[in-house]
Amino acid sequence: MNQYAGLSARFGTPLYVYDLDEVATARRELFDALPEEFELFYALKANPHPEVVRALREPGTVRACRAEISSTGELAAALEAGFAGHEILYTGPGKTAGELDEAIRLGVRMFSAESATDVEHIGQAADAHGVVADCLLRVNSVTASATTSIRMTGTPSQFGFDSEALPEVLPRLRKVTGVELAGLHFFPLSNAKDEASLIAEFQHTIALAARLERELGLPLRFVDIGGGFSVPYAVPGRRSPYPTLRSALAATLDEHFPAWREGTPRLACESGRYLVGAAGTLIAGVTNIKVSRGRRFVVLDAGINTFGGMSGLGRLLPVAVELDDSRAVDRASLVGPLCTPGDILGREIKVPELNPGDTVVIPNAGAYGPTASLLMFLGRPAPTEVVLRGGEVVSASRLEHHRTPVSGTGRV
Ligand SMILES: *Cc1c(COP(=O)(O)O)cnc(C)c1O
Repeated sequence: MNQYAGLSARFGTPLYVYDLDEVATARRELFDALPEEFELFYALKANPHPEVVRALREPGTVRACRAEISSTGELAAALEAGFAGHEILYTGPGKTAGELDEAIRLGVRMFSAESATDVEHIGQAADAHGVVADCLLRVNSVTASATTSIRMTGTPSQFGFDSEALPEVLPRLRKVTGVELAGLHFFPLSNAKDEASLIAEFQHTIALAARLERELGLPLRFVDIGGGFSVPYAVPGRRSPYPTLRSALAATLDEHFPAWREGTPRLACESGRYLVGAAGTLIAGVTNIKVSRGRRFVVLDAGINTFGGMSGLGRLLPVAVELDDSRAVDRASLVGPLCTPGDILGREIKVPELNPGDTVVIPNAGAYGPTASLLMFLGRPAPTEVVLRGGEVVSASRLEHHRTPVSGTGRV
């Protein structure tokens, strides 16, 4: 707590603090939870801060992550952090010709394709540069396994090929030049509720991949089985432990892909939140305390413009901040400074004694922080973000918005 008091005195609030030692620990724990043949993609959307991304790539006692991106902005962040094009997987349902051209030009050679037209666009961009890109066909499985918080398959979706339609569409895909159909990509769930549901989902995915390989006659070089590794979001707690995942994956792979230990196919998982969630802390200042009809409201200088703004868009990331309640004396709602009743970080939660000028420390805020928030809404400055390593502040910065003129003014 003292460390955070010192940092908020030095940098002001709202303040994000990212601890790279914790990022390194999470990376080691996740690699340890997987068979050593696995590669691991870091999904930059969880936190594209350049120092955080760099920490996931840098050589260490564990293997380096690769990067999973879905925009040219994330591509720039990955390259700036030192990733080479060939270490990057480009995913997403809306890849434009311009983005694909830029990605190929900058060396990206592996894409997840969401549809036949997506494969064709990737092929056109690769052809234009005289190269061949690996395409992983993202699969939207008609069947599902675990019950999870965020489902992206089994129902109609902008993500992936409907698994039952793949046999019919494959001849069209085989004709596309500039791409090699290298394998399959799955991402059926995020933030699995426990190890059993994570394992069940992976078992389902691996069995489906093997079945598709047989039915389609499509030899798989690379299978990305997705993720779902979980960490608390803005509430106290630890990353989920996965003590049996490694052996469960190995057993399932032995059954379905007898040559997997020799690299056929190569295998990968993906994670955003697990790698960075626990490394981040948000410190918010208390601007005011008010009582309305018997209920207490703690007004903070950080609202959904700073944290969790995406939750306003639906059920994806419901923000329900909880504080360390060891000193709780009261219940109150944590609200932000924005002029919208939606600016609530926590409803009627346990809070310690708080007064204007105090700070609250929101734990496990390293994933889906600033970039997943409504940074522009109501025009407040972005929060300062500081990065710690070995107890030292190694970087302090703030994102800035500015308006850039675009040519084309004049009579319409
Ligand atoms: C969002 C996303 C991730 C990261 O999800 P987490 O729950 O943060 O691990 C990984 N892969 C894909 C394709 C995604 O869309």
